[in-house]
Amino acid sequence: MFRTNTCGELRLEDKGKKVTLAGWVQRVRNMGSTLNFIDLRDRYGITQISTGDTTVKDVLDTVQTLGREFVIQVEGEVAERESKNLKIPTGEIEIRAEKITILNNAATPPFTIEDQTDGGEDLRAKFRYLDLRRNPLKNAITLRHEMAIQTRKYLDSKGFLEIETPFLIKSTPEGARDFVVPSRMNPGEFYALPQSPQTFKQLLMVAGFDRYFQIVRCFRDEDLRADRQPEFTQIDCEMSFVEREDIFQMFEGLTKHLFKEVLGLEFAEQFPRISYEYAMEKYGSDKPDIRFEMLIQDVTQELKGNGFSVFDNASYIGAIVAKGCAGYSRKQLDELTAWVKRPQIGAQGLVYIKRDSEIKSSVDKFYSPEQLTSLCEKIGAGQGDLVLILCGEKKKTLGALGTLRLEMGSRLGLRDNSVYKPLWVCDFPLLEWDEETQRFYAMHHPFTSPKPEDLEKFYSDNPAELGQVKANAYDIVLNGNEIGGGSIRIHDRKVQERMFEILGFTHEQAEYRFGFLMNAFKYGAPPHGGIAFGFDRLCALFGGEETIRDFIAFPKNNMGRDVMADAPSRIDDAQMDELYIKSCPPAKQ
Ligand code: ASP
Repeated sequence: MFRTNTCGELRLEDKGKKVTLAGWVQRVRNMGSTLNFIDLRDRYGITQISTGDTTVKDVLDTVQTLGREFVIQVEGEVAERESKNLKIPTGEIEIRAEKITILNNAATPPFTIEDQTDGGEDLRAKFRYLDLRRNPLKNAITLRHEMAIQTRKYLDSKGFLEIETPFLIKSTPEGARDFVVPSRMNPGEFYALPQSPQTFKQLLMVAGFDRYFQIVRCFRDEDLRADRQPEFTQIDCEMSFVEREDIFQMFEGLTKHLFKEVLGLEFAEQFPRISYEYAMEKYGSDKPDIRFEMLIQDVTQELKGNGFSVFDNASYIGAIVAKGCAGYSRKQLDELTAWVKRPQIGAQGLVYIKRDSEIKSSVDKFYSPEQLTSLCEKIGAGQGDLVLILCGEKKKTLGALGTLRLEMGSRLGLRDNSVYKPLWVCDFPLLEWDEETQRFYAMHHPFTSPKPEDLEKFYSDNPAELGQVKANAYDIVLNGNEIGGGSIRIHDRKVQERMFEILGFTHEQAEYRFGFLMNAFKYGAPPHGGIAFGFDRLCALFGGEETIRDFIAFPKNNMGRDVMADAPSRIDDAQMDELYIKSCPPAKQ
């Protein structure tokens, strides 16, 4: 046998056993004369190997030649350690080495393989396979596996079939840009990589599969925002003969199952459900972090008309209350003001009210202490609290207040990564008007059905009315992150045609792009709906981390590059010719 045990397995009960282990040399400690300790590591843990006076010379000689990350095989006897390390499960034993075989040498790794490494991000990305040897990454990838297995267990137990859909599909850009693949056998024609299996899963419903899921790679050629990957993974699901409530039950169930099985957390209560409108008004975001309160409050009525022109000219004035922050110094407030004025947030300025032993504000000139006190009472700012106020155009101001709220939440330590607060956000607008292209876009995607009560408006020619149509769409949100989104779909050909019309497609364009789906709707499409979870993000949140990169074995960098293999890369001219692609000058790096 190559090995009898792993490096994470042996305990005091195994004392006296003859064993063979294999793994990587974490470190060698020479304690003088014949006494050496080797920490031998594999995926399962670390076991101490020791040599002493009785060790044969061959073994002692081999130990002298070992370096970090050498791959070795060790035979020996399990013994009780003299000085125990109770921090690790194998810390009470060691293996007294009788034979050591070097299976492979290793060059000195470019950074230390430790939980806290000295390697910078770029270096670690280049040597990803070494980075993956470190515990934080190994644990992240292991957690991802557990999440995938538990997802499959739950969905299988509910009768879902896991069905693969193609990666080489028809390009139907709507939303993000498609990655395209030239077809050698069809000169001048291209496949696209799927942005999601949306149309296929709907066709599977037409085919009668009733409950489908897939843990599937999706591809979007977007300008990369922080922590986005050009390829990412979804838990993609679809169900027939359902209403929104059925979807909520099923996938709240999945989320709870994952919390329980992966993190040992029980959620007895139903997840809160709030409307998009409420989320925007109270949290300034469609993915609210509800781990803390600090809701946005509309104080337009209270503050307008007192001669302070900034407020008087604003269409909206909103406030948040930072509990216990009345002691903020001038310097802290100046810094916060500069923070909200950064272009990312774009506020004009920040007005504050400190409610301490006396009431102080940056607008004392315009409001009496009584007025300010009564405002504080109204919005729940008590003794010791700080009120932060922004004003301007409503949508923009709400967004800025939402960002400020998150910042204050972080500063006050109210966003603990080990606390999980999921919720549903629903009733999104169906359509979003884009000024630049002067047309409507589907806020979710063009297959999302309007809410039945808004059908009349859906057929209106008036853009204002169309803008009010609500979608039968929902997002599941966790700690300020959208972890999943979906909708009840359009299953009626006429409604789908109308949707394409609103989106500005001619009949021919709609036919060219989505004819296959609309055709299928002729042949008995059941009412259906579904959801897709962003699996990478879900894993990161379960792992208590902010970034998804550690939860993907081989991620791309911020520029969408694989820096390990150095992709994308040029292909040779012959290959280009074969694909009927004109060669272009090398990209400037
Ligand atoms: N296909 C959608 C997406 O990728 C999710 C869904 O509607 O099920 O966002």
